[in-house]
Amino acid sequence: MPSLYAKTPEELVQLLSLEQKFRGAQIYSWLVKGVTDFDKMSNLGVKERERLKALYPSCISSKLVKTQKDKSATKLLIELEDGALIECVMLTDGQDRKTACLSTQVGCAMGCTFCKTGTMGLIRNLEDYEIVEQMIHLRTLAEDITHIVFMGMGEPLANFGSLMSSILFFHDPKGFDISHRKMTVSTCGLVPGIRKLTEVKVPVRLAVSLVSADNETRDRIMKVNKSYPLKDLKGALLGFQRVSDKRITLEYCMLKGVNTTRDSAAKLAKFTEGLFCVVNLIPWNPIPELGYQTPDDREIRAFCKNLDEFRVNYTIRLTKGRNVSAACGQLATESKKNRR
Ligand code: SF4
Repeated sequence: MPSLYAKTPEELVQLLSLEQKFRGAQIYSWLVKGVTDFDKMSNLGVKERERLKALYPSCISSKLVKTQKDKSATKLLIELEDGALIECVMLTDGQDRKTACLSTQVGCAMGCTFCKTGTMGLIRNLEDYEIVEQMIHLRTLAEDITHIVFMGMGEPLANFGSLMSSILFFHDPKGFDISHRKMTVSTCGLVPGIRKLTEVKVPVRLAVSLVSADNETRDRIMKVNKSYPLKDLKGALLGFQRVSDKRITLEYCMLKGVNTTRDSAAKLAKFTEGLFCVVNLIPWNPIPELGYQTPDDREIRAFCKNLDEFRVNYTIRLTKGRNVSAACGQLATESKKNRR
């Protein structure tokens, strides 16, 4: 089933052979509201609806398969038109702010050893409309989603075209009208992608999954570091910082006995020198088959004490969605299509 999402009103005019140009804006506006059935687009004439239905029996290509909820997160399992499965999550914080966490790929090629998605390998990139449609499904849970993080399955910067196209769609003042500063692109440290993002000067926020500021450790945990070691990553971040006034977030997934020593804290302090950034500490969300452990409170407190001493600017992220495996690094799906 083709999709009418991630298209401009002008593209809809072309695609649907609309005789009156203003109809493109009308249909666009229904689509943004989540209306995917021409019969419900009440400002279109009956004959026109029939013609459009024959062309596009549904305007959306994906379908919701399963919903799982806990107190602060709702995870949706979405089936794509080729049978592949992806997940997306709605996160709610203490101030009732709602954030959509969207996937950009089916699986992921990056193979970070602490992340469940990494165990899937890359199945395929998502099309721009498949990214946008996740938001449409999430908005059936709550219309007041104000923020987007591209932190679901996949490495967003490895699917740059679809990522940028979906950002453009979400930002359109006639559509979702979500400001760039409310959108965060997360990367494991794909340096060419960070440079591209810097070049296009789209003022979204950037989050980097750092996990270790020691090359040897990072090589072991994240294979991206072998291609783009910390020196290159820091160079790319400094470049991004020159065109952006937004603070960069360095995600630091805490792994028991791996990256929580005093030496780890010292190296982290060194890495943050000259960067306008905050380190977001995330105690690892357990995934039994991956062989890591979550540090206990004592280990976390000791690491924080070291960071205080080295004057590192940090926060600790309260874990959301752990009960429904919707927390950071826990997303993964399996379908016949996803199996390679
Ligand atoms: S952490 Fe991100 S980049 Fe790394 S394997 Fe998981 S989804 Fe891919």
